[in-house]
Amino acid sequence: MKNPKDFEGKNLIVLGAGESGVGAAVLGEALNMNVFVSDNGPIPDKYRAQMLRRGILFEENGHSRKRVLAADYIVKSPGIPPTAPLVKEAEEAGIPILSEIEFAGWFTNAKMVCITGSNGKTTTTMLTYHILQKAGLNVGLAGNVGKSLALQVAEEQHDIYVIELSSFQLENMYDFKANIAVMLNITPDHMDRYDHKMENYTRAKFRIARNQQADDFFVYWLGDPIVTSQVKALQTEARLMPFSDTYEEDSVAWEDKDGIVHFDIPGETWEIPRDRISLQGRHNLYNSMAAGISASLLSIKSDTIREALGDFEAVEHRLEFVRDLDGVHWINDSKATNVNSTWYALDSMRTPVVLILGGKDKGNDYSEILPLVKEKVKAIVCMGKDNKKLLDFFSGEVAEIRDCHSLGEAVKACRQLAKEGDTVLLSPCCASFDLFESYEDRGRKFKDAVNEL
Ligand code: ADP
Repeated sequence: MKNPKDFEGKNLIVLGAGESGVGAAVLGEALNMNVFVSDNGPIPDKYRAQMLRRGILFEENGHSRKRVLAADYIVKSPGIPPTAPLVKEAEEAGIPILSEIEFAGWFTNAKMVCITGSNGKTTTTMLTYHILQKAGLNVGLAGNVGKSLALQVAEEQHDIYVIELSSFQLENMYDFKANIAVMLNITPDHMDRYDHKMENYTRAKFRIARNQQADDFFVYWLGDPIVTSQVKALQTEARLMPFSDTYEEDSVAWEDKDGIVHFDIPGETWEIPRDRISLQGRHNLYNSMAAGISASLLSIKSDTIREALGDFEAVEHRLEFVRDLDGVHWINDSKATNVNSTWYALDSMRTPVVLILGGKDKGNDYSEILPLVKEKVKAIVCMGKDNKKLLDFFSGEVAEIRDCHSLGEAVKACRQLAKEGDTVLLSPCCASFDLFESYEDRGRKFKDAVNEL
């Protein structure tokens, strides 16, 4: 932990006034730094009110270049790309540019359980948090979910944090150490921000293992070829804790042919029947294994973990059941914003599917889901401003494909196409920003429309 005294009177510039930025500003104030928050766009009311109430200085709709470049430290919101001109200028001027997690980590000795991967981060983070809470630990939830870590370090002081880390946050982490790092998987996502190079994205993700030492743990999935090849090249003292679909040497969690999930953690061996785990789908088995291993490594009793894995409720917008109507099952998986997450959604379907796809394409390659689409999907309903890429790719591959440009149109088309025994699945492979504010907005509007049918 750094000495807070060394930061008194230093200039802290926070770029981006969102959850993480405002939290960093609050922590900066608590450290008696000179804090200034600068946002390129308009600041949401919630955060403006928080800053006004606390007397934090800020500007919006543009950056005062000189003031920003007078910083001793810059905390940058993960949403601002490293290529933004002012960020580059600050970097050239030698100003340390930190993520909020890095900055907050300097001022706490709490244990850190950090979760990353292309898919499953939020689910695994929430599930791990749920187990730790149930075990009675003084635990905080941070990162992409919950409150900002910096705010909690300033005002709440938990003994342990469960943190969801995106590659964007990891880019600006240097001294931070994860006591337990979880790497769920690596599949293409955000390729537009990584020059369309997988190695750049992978490198950012593996920053989660930086600084780990012999008493730390690195939990990962053996079924992911990119992850396993990176782990081979990884020079780390951390103890490796791999998990797998079926038993493999070295694996610390796996499922046997009778549907029993085994955990073989140093110091404790335990199991749980797969059908006692509340989250459905193969991907959620991996998420449950990762959470179960992490909890076991924290010496939580297996009875508590078993109970928590059994009563955890699915996170909103992730394979979330909406309604049964005239024998048709409606499911909201709006969070599936890349091709791989839709693959898992389709993999877990047990009926014919009417699939809603589309939105803002981030350079997707749909061939990954083609076999599952051919096997399970009777109709595709495209829902986006521009559906050309989807229509070109899937025409002739499914019996029906529709071209819709609004949620209302798409839900109506699904209602016509789905027959008793089918599932309508919103799992779009794409970001939502062409027609919606966010994936949450898309999911909520979908649920509203379905509930009005
Ligand atoms: P993230 O926070 O990484 O985006 P979420 O837990 O929000 O992950 O899940 C996003 C989507 O990814 C879900 O809709 C689900 O279908 C899919 N998914 C969840 N866990 C996994 C996993 N372990 N592997 C692949 N896909 C997953």
